[in-house]
Amino acid sequence: MSTLLIHNAHCVATFDHADPSQASELRDASIFIRDHRIEAIGPAADLPPTADEVIDARGHLVTPGLVNTHHHMYQSLTRAIPAVQNAELFSWLRGLYPIWAGLTPEMVHVSTQVAMAELLMSGCTTSSDHLYIYPNGVRLDDSIEAAQQIGMRFVATRGSMSVGQSQGGLPPDRVVEKDDFILKDTQRLIERYHDASFGAMVNVAVAPCSPFSVSRDLMRESARLARQYGVRLHTHLAENDHDIAYSREKFNCTPAQYAQDLGWLGHDVWHAHSVKLDDEGISLFAATRTGVAHCPCSNMRLASGIAPIRKMLNAGVPVGLGVDGCASNDGAHMVGEARQALLLARVGRALEPFGCDHGPSEMTARDALALATRGGAEVLGRTDIGHLAVGQCADLAMFDLDTLGFAGGAVHDPIGSLLLCASPQAAYTVVNGRVVVREGRLATLELAPLVQRHNALAQQLAQAARTV
Ligand code: ZN
Repeated sequence: MSTLLIHNAHCVATFDHADPSQASELRDASIFIRDHRIEAIGPAADLPPTADEVIDARGHLVTPGLVNTHHHMYQSLTRAIPAVQNAELFSWLRGLYPIWAGLTPEMVHVSTQVAMAELLMSGCTTSSDHLYIYPNGVRLDDSIEAAQQIGMRFVATRGSMSVGQSQGGLPPDRVVEKDDFILKDTQRLIERYHDASFGAMVNVAVAPCSPFSVSRDLMRESARLARQYGVRLHTHLAENDHDIAYSREKFNCTPAQYAQDLGWLGHDVWHAHSVKLDDEGISLFAATRTGVAHCPCSNMRLASGIAPIRKMLNAGVPVGLGVDGCASNDGAHMVGEARQALLLARVGRALEPFGCDHGPSEMTARDALALATRGGAEVLGRTDIGHLAVGQCADLAMFDLDTLGFAGGAVHDPIGSLLLCASPQAAYTVVNGRVVVREGRLATLELAPLVQRHNALAQQLAQAARTV
């Protein structure tokens, strides 16, 4: 048994209510943690003053640990590749597939830890990852082991691609797998790693990559397998206009209709992007509680468009945030992602006819932080994270308000400043009661040799593609 006291924080945003306008902001408050759970939270004077470890939180803002609902961590090896810096989704993918074909198990392990380090240092405590390419003996086990070593709560998704170019799909044939093998390996991973219990550190979800890279049968069989085991389903849907055109041409319907036909709507499903979800799609998602991973930076980077997030929220669609893969963001900073969600929602409104009247209130700072915490937890089907309350998992982030970026802002509104000022690094990140970032530094792994190895592998990967 061990105890941890977050002592006397200037402000604690608990998000203990589903309504983000009631962020439940506590002043001069402490959080007492025993092992992996929050045992007490409230005025500092009311809590025990000692614990095995006491973190002095004066001058800090404490938030629930941020939750990232969509990522492709292996892509940190291929950030900012010049040839695709200015490409839209389909040509960006066509440019990168041949490079990713050279991935090795070590590359996946190291790049996953680099991506997770970046997330953890931005206050993110839980992340999903969508690994959908398995060349050269790569396995999802490589990511899961990486997460366990670094100490991040992890929703590992077994992605897949089964329709290569010769069958009318987008990826080259040499990077696709056979449906039977994909399903068998997915079943193996669920049986080996999926933990359905409260406080689980590893969940496994079933995640064929996208309608333009997997067969209709694989989509259906994946849904059947996921429901047999009670695990979640994830894919990309309605990402941009080309995606919509592909759906209309190949399936003669919209992406939302396609999802409905395949059994891919429900409270156990979340779709990435959904930038081009139409009104009918929004109604279908809302009625079935189908979740959306909103990825504002990636949607801007690839010029995919502006997802109608306010419409989705008003309709009752569960929405979380995703940084998306490191090759289309290319920075995995969860506070930064929430900030972009806020800014993009406002400019999106301003572009609509007569939208300027309401533009800035389209999304508030508290709305954006709610998406990054409670919203993400809901999208991942987790009731044990995303807000701070007695009995919840001890996942939280602390930001030092006495720093340059908060100067002149935190005195007025610490939460507003977190979202509106330059996005800060976390001073402390606690995952499952364990201090993973301490005084702004990663506490579970040596960062410098990790980055050095990562860069050597990134170079090796690019060179291998040049010699093919
Ligand atoms: Zn993605």
